[in-house]
Amino acid sequence: VSPREVAQAYLERVRRLDPGLGAFLSLNGRLLEEAEALDPSLPLAGLLVAVKDNIATQGLPTTAGSRLLEGFLPPYEATAVARLKALGALVLGKTNLDEFGMGSSTEHSVFFPTKNPFDPSRVPGGSSGGSAAAVAADLAPLALGSDTGGSVRQPAAFCGVYGLKPTYGRVSRYGLLAYASSLDQIGPLARSVRDLALLLDAVAGPDPRDATSLDQPPRFGEALEAPLRPLRLGVVREGLSGNSRGVERALEEALGVFQGLGFAVREVSWPALLQALAAYYILAPAEASANLARYDGTLYGYRAEGEELWRMVEATRARLGLEVKRRILVGTFVLSSGYYEAYYGRAQAFRRRLKAEARALFQEVDLLLLPTTPHPAFPLGSRPDPLAMYREDLYTVGASLAGLPALSFPAGFEEGLPLGLQLLAPWGEDEGLLRAALAFE
Ligand code: GLN
Repeated sequence: VSPREVAQAYLERVRRLDPGLGAFLSLNGRLLEEAEALDPSLPLAGLLVAVKDNIATQGLPTTAGSRLLEGFLPPYEATAVARLKALGALVLGKTNLDEFGMGSSTEHSVFFPTKNPFDPSRVPGGSSGGSAAAVAADLAPLALGSDTGGSVRQPAAFCGVYGLKPTYGRVSRYGLLAYASSLDQIGPLARSVRDLALLLDAVAGPDPRDATSLDQPPRFGEALEAPLRPLRLGVVREGLSGNSRGVERALEEALGVFQGLGFAVREVSWPALLQALAAYYILAPAEASANLARYDGTLYGYRAEGEELWRMVEATRARLGLEVKRRILVGTFVLSSGYYEAYYGRAQAFRRRLKAEARALFQEVDLLLLPTTPHPAFPLGSRPDPLAMYREDLYTVGASLAGLPALSFPAGFEEGLPLGLQLLAPWGEDEGLLRAALAFE
């Protein structure tokens, strides 16, 4: 089959099934022409990738799930997307998300919520819920998401697919619409570890356009060829008491698999992990309040009417959704003079402690195992209280604050809904992390 036929087949599949799912915000209107014009000798010729709609795609709508960017056509391409295209991959379409990545269910998209492919009364997780649902329902073979505090891993878990948040800096953030710059990472979602590796080899690596990108070329394909050596695995359990029975069972089974492979398994304690959520919900809004100041009607996207400049700015920013406004207010508050030391300063100090604890832990073990989420996907509309929504991120924000690579892999089902567990590796050891996760493929 030709790339054009594959593209045609996926477009038909999306048109038939996506109306019930809401994974896509837009499709690439030039897909068939692009498939036709492809150089078939390129290594990824014709590979279709769904891209989260907070990643800039030149000439294709990029909304970040916000009314403020409705109709915005970026004049530039994110590095991750440019690299994929240079290898012959094609953007299938742009996927739904919580507005600017702020949420854990994709219900904060201003357009429509995405549904969980395993049960349409449940959320797919968020904020990369569209990417996870698309991959789970085979509306796309692969997808890019972004993970600030869990947004690749948690939807991957809820939708029964693999998702990786790389070490901070492994994938260029150029063209990723900034939410919390010190945490944001683009990450792959796929139905196998090998597919994660394929996507990472294409998109990762140093980029002069992102000063925080690491000078570490990707070697994922190579790493998967290496034999798996038995490693030391630490399981984090202390204080993690609110897990569903299915999650507890999945943990036991995963430990059994690792032991069967000759891994030395032991319980470890990471005391700061349970406080990470509080620090995250200070630091992420603080950075967001600065990053989102640019959406004032003068440069990007929507511009409201208004004779005087400040009235125009006010009316433009009124278009932001409730959760985004809440984060901007919280962020502005914790950064304000008089409160800065009490909130932002303390959260930063805590972040350093969390990192130090993680470094110490990784002297004793090579990998950490913990659940991605305490339970499977929750029903749509069941988390109206913002704090209840924030608590969904309990297990994912630790790796984010510490900058560590973390991979969520499917680990069975509970009452028909997928479960996910998370493996964490030391800083920069993403390749080894994928190699170990191959045990669960
Ligand atoms: N749910 C978290 C938040 O709302 C994480 C989101 C993300 O990783 N983009 O901030």
